[in-house]
Amino acid sequence: RLQVEGLMRSFGGRQVLDDVSFSIPAGQVTCLLGPSGCGKSTTLRIIAGVDMQDRGRILVDGALVCDTVFRVPPERRAIGLMFQDFALFPHLSVAENVAFGLAGSKAEKRARVSELLDRVHLARHIDSMPHALSGGEQQRVALARALAPRPRILLMDEPFSGLDERLRDDIRDETLALLKEEGTAVLLVTHEPHEAMRMADEILLMRDGRIVQRGAPYNLYNAPVDRKAAAFFSDIN
Ligand code: ATP
Ligand code: MG
Repeated sequence: RLQVEGLMRSFGGRQVLDDVSFSIPAGQVTCLLGPSGCGKSTTLRIIAGVDMQDRGRILVDGALVCDTVFRVPPERRAIGLMFQDFALFPHLSVAENVAFGLAGSKAEKRARVSELLDRVHLARHIDSMPHALSGGEQQRVALARALAPRPRILLMDEPFSGLDERLRDDIRDETLALLKEEGTAVLLVTHEPHEAMRMADEILLMRDGRIVQRGAPYNLYNAPVDRKAAAFFSDIN
């Protein structure tokens, strides 16, 4: 469970996050949805620990991760990351990429790597190099790598945006199935209402640095908080 309380962040006198608060229960996919520039990536960066808030605090499973004086370093937060370009290490094989963040014995690592590659249907590529894989296959390796250390929370920032339109819905569905099997709590950032409707248990609708509405996808679709929110959802096909 992730709790975000009263995050404030400004850049050069401009308030980019304005009292952002929400929580994410275990095993649920929450989508942070909003137009370009509303503060989604900034929120994720602060949770990951690569940027700092001016005010507010973050807790994971009830334990303080950061406030304005205390800070757990990013690598000790048990928070996994998967960003837009999902860059794999080009000089490491698929298996080495997935094993990268893993602790434990060689046998344990090998077991976890095979298990995950099986589940993303890439067992036959275990010894391939990343450049020999398609974009969609690389994305699935990146997902396996992010999930390998069993993070408490997985943060995903527009993870599908680099992919061919025709592939995206299939990969969204596959990704969702794996996330549910693993039971990982996920915060997924997107500016596409269609993606949030398809993947989210709950949507946090963000605008100008604030969460303006939260709820189940059909609630936001059927009862948008205002005209702007209605317009935002209106072009879903
Ligand atoms: P997108 O959908 O385009 O990725 P976003 O919602 O992720 O948008 P952010 O990246 O969080 O938006 O940026 C929010 C605002 O904060 C933008 O106006 C951006 O220019 C500004 N911003 C973000 N990081 C910095 C920074 N390090 N220095 C100055 N301004 C920044
Ligand atoms: Mg962004």
